[in-house]
Amino acid sequence: MAKPATVLTVARTEQLTPHMIRVHLGGPGFDSFTPNEFTDMYVKLVFGSGDDAVVRTYTIRSVDPVRREIAIDFVVHGDVGVAGPWAAAAQAGDEVEVRGPGGAFAPDPAADWYLLAGDETAIPAISAAVERLESDAVGNVLIEVGGSEDEVPLPAPAGVEVRWIHRGVSSDQVDETNSGDNAPLIEAVRSLPWRAGQPHVFVHGEAQAVMTNVRPYVRKERGVSSKSASISGYWRKGRTEEGFRVWKSEFAAAEQG
Ligand SMILES: Cc1cc2nc3c(=O)[nH]c(=O)nc-3n(C[C@H](O)[C@H](O)[C@H](O)COP(=O)(O)OP(=O)(O)OC[C@H]3O[C@@H](n4cnc5c(N)ncnc54)[C@H](O)[C@@H]3O)c2cc1C
Repeated sequence: MAKPATVLTVARTEQLTPHMIRVHLGGPGFDSFTPNEFTDMYVKLVFGSGDDAVVRTYTIRSVDPVRREIAIDFVVHGDVGVAGPWAAAAQAGDEVEVRGPGGAFAPDPAADWYLLAGDETAIPAISAAVERLESDAVGNVLIEVGGSEDEVPLPAPAGVEVRWIHRGVSSDQVDETNSGDNAPLIEAVRSLPWRAGQPHVFVHGEAQAVMTNVRPYVRKERGVSSKSASISGYWRKGRTEEGFRVWKSEFAAAEQG
């Protein structure tokens, strides 16, 4: 991803759901932030400095050129971690270093239909993708959340069905019965009536659920090419982002071997 770094200032926060906080970031640093064309546009947030700096990856939910702010929606997953607790406690005037943006996906207008799926962490990227769809687009949006209290407004074209899948527990309380290989998102994707034609697929969320379950189904069983499928993990249960980076390289090595 591009390297530019800038410091942004918290303008205000909004509690979107019991487990999601929107942080609006602006200030003089906004002038050196250059958005890209991707709906999954993301940045690296740097907390702290020097050897103690911790880097976390977040989607840009939206850019407001009039207010000169970007918005990031943080899943608040208990007291653990760095970025979640930072967002939960963020106050106007707080600063954070932002690197990027990067990105890879935007809905292909030539696709016959769209499958956009994920868990809470993918709501910002999926919402941005849905906003980019043509009014006559058809497809399915499947989002796994703890419960109805975690749903957010997601207006979609008439031909795009939005379905919320309730896990029954918030993401910080998941155990092996309802996450990873047992995440309800997996069955929701597998049981979706597969539409005719060429889909454009975007699936992101907990890595075990997405990479070892949904991805082989979409790529191998449904035969969707890598060009038409953006599928990867955004986090891994039980791992910090540093530990998740190790998981990803081990996963890639095992796939090649
Ligand atoms: C490209 C990309 C875009 C992303 N966009 C977003 C986004 O817009 N919003 C967003 O909230 N996240 C997003 N994520 C996921 C986010 O980077 C991770 O959830 C990250 O681990 C959070 O950092 P942390 O400091 O809060 O927790 P960490 O210090 O990384 O982890 C501490 C503990 O919390 C657990 N944990 C981490 N995330 C979650 C979670 N969501 N639910 C339950 N437990 C969790 C970890 O497994 C670990 O046990 C994105 C990730 C990528 C790669």
